[in-house]
Amino acid sequence: MHELSIAKGIMANLRPWLDEQPESLRVEEIVIKCGPFRAVVASALVAAWEVVRAENPKTAESRLTIDNTSIKIHCNDCGVDFDARRPIFKCRKCDSDNLAMSGGNELFIENIKTNSEE
Ligand SMILES: [Zn+2]
Repeated sequence: MHELSIAKGIMANLRPWLDEQPESLRVEEIVIKCGPFRAVVASALVAAWEVVRAENPKTAESRLTIDNTSIKIHCNDCGVDFDARRPIFKCRKCDSDNLAMSGGNELFIENIKTNSEE
């Protein structure tokens, strides 16, 4: 269960920050940036978070939102740049396979919303 270990990793990253927050703080939403190369199944990660979040009262009611990033693709033949949601191997414009890909490996906490924000 790849997603369960990711959910545990998110909690491990949050824990030092949570420990510094007042007891009354409640996390409402955690936004995770996730690239297509991570092969994360969003619904499985949300389900895994619903297990892991219970370990801390500050996160027990929180929900996880996954913000999927895209892969940046540059065609070395025709020079076109575009974004793709999954790895692709042919240029959309000229059909070349001479492509450079970047990004798509992201996996990090982008934003945390709490009840202390106005
Ligand atoms: Zn091209």
